[in-house]
Amino acid sequence: MDECPRCGWPQSKIYELLSRHLTSEGVVTYTRCACGAVQMRVQPFDAGRVVTVGD
Ligand SMILES: [Zn+2]
Repeated sequence: MDECPRCGWPQSKIYELLSRHLTSEGVVTYTRCACGAVQMRVQPFDAGRVVTVGD
């Protein structure tokens, strides 16, 4: 599911960012689509996470 079910806008392109916050699940992002639908997506922490930082 990578398109808006209402208008077909690609989910990879954020039309309008409403809010983004951290939860125990990961980063939760609320966006509004070009058609006005509000979408919520969760990006888990283990995807693309920085696990080590060099000194
Ligand atoms: Zn849409």
